[in-house]
Amino acid sequence: MDLALFGIQGSGKGTQGKIIAEKYNLKLFETGAELRKLAKESSPLGLKIKAIINAGYLVPTEVVMEIIENFLQDIPTNERVLFDGIPRSKEQMEHFNNIMSKHGRTFKGVQINITKEEAMDRLLARKICSGCKAVYPAWITEEECKKCGGELTRRADDNEESIRTRLSAYENETLPVIESYKSNDQMIIVDGMGTIEEITALLALELDKIFE
Ligand SMILES: [Zn+2]
Repeated sequence: MDLALFGIQGSGKGTQGKIIAEKYNLKLFETGAELRKLAKESSPLGLKIKAIINAGYLVPTEVVMEIIENFLQDIPTNERVLFDGIPRSKEQMEHFNNIMSKHGRTFKGVQINITKEEAMDRLLARKICSGCKAVYPAWITEEECKKCGGELTRRADDNEESIRTRLSAYENETLPVIESYKSNDQMIIVDGMGTIEEITALLALELDKIFE
């Protein structure tokens, strides 16, 4: 059984993804990381990706799916995969479902659920180090960077307008995917309002049932 992890920006999805991948021995598929890795290769797929990135284009769905196919080729069905942030639209979902069944893989979706307003608050309040550019969550009280001692300030790109655009994209394109899996009884939803440890514990309650 594989997992597809969902969460609006600011939900802590990336952090939890790494924690549960380690805890349950899941192989992590993260599109951005996979793109960067492949772009360094001189395989036909690597060259295609490099050309798209160099031209400044967004990587289209067909290519994202090709990357998933390529990734799954080397993974036996008894090894589990955690897909981080895939599929992100209904269009991707159709392709993703087909690829998974073609490879004989079953999966459940997992959503870390926070409201759009909470996401907005968290992203607006995020802090960044003016020295080493490390990003810190909103709730920390320190005013100095733990890594380099630099001063923590608000992120320059976290203005309300651009955040709203990113959050709306999730709401309009990804929420319908979650609804669809939910109606198939293929979706686990946990509350994302707690601390990192609390959310991990909520996830474990659900995932222990699947994996142990
Ligand atoms: Zn720093």
